[in-house]
Amino acid sequence: MAVAVPTLPDLEGSSAQDVVAWALETYHPQIALACSFQKEESVLLDLIFKANPDARVFALDTDVLFEETYELWRRTEARYDTTIERWHGPSLEQQAAEHGDRLWDRDPSKCCGIRKVAPLKEGLSKLDAWTTGIRRDQSPARAGAKKVEWDDAFGLVKVNPLADWSDKDVWKHVLAEGLPYNPLHDRDYASIGCFHCTKQGAGREGRWASSAKIECGLHQEDA
Ligand code: SF4
Repeated sequence: MAVAVPTLPDLEGSSAQDVVAWALETYHPQIALACSFQKEESVLLDLIFKANPDARVFALDTDVLFEETYELWRRTEARYDTTIERWHGPSLEQQAAEHGDRLWDRDPSKCCGIRKVAPLKEGLSKLDAWTTGIRRDQSPARAGAKKVEWDDAFGLVKVNPLADWSDKDVWKHVLAEGLPYNPLHDRDYASIGCFHCTKQGAGREGRWASSAKIECGLHQEDA
């Protein structure tokens, strides 16, 4: 059955804090923040818990995140007195048994499909809206993101409060508020994902650097 697309407000002129407040007032507890423990989520965690201490957060645990990311996960839970929902796919052993070893090398799109997209799809099917840290200037593929939009791929509302923020805006907020952030950013990892597929680099150039792939399929079609 097709999902009815709701009429959404135009919040393009609203601040990130106002967009977050509107989203939580409208959808909580059927809304959750997708947390990939990058600097954008450092900002959003601050904004959402200021708006509602019971706000929901989830992370896609691929089992191959950086140790620095897992450490930040623990620190974030302690700081905000919350439990970040762990959404995950099959174990690495089960994946290897079904698809062979080192799937991320041989077929990264399939690996992302199994370890990220499938658990995301399952989790989002139980929500009315999700919040993400995507910004328009991160890549041409993200340039058209609106602050509030309908997510056709997953059939729910998508809220991007930082859509019009620059990299500089993000760092300014992180540093002004003294927020915890992923220390990999200080070691020239501008974008952080799984350790097999993330290298140092500006923007998103360090993601799947040895292949033509640029997205994992969470925000745009895998490419
Ligand atoms: S980023 Fe790499 S290791 Fe992580 S799910 Fe995608 S292909 Fe697999």
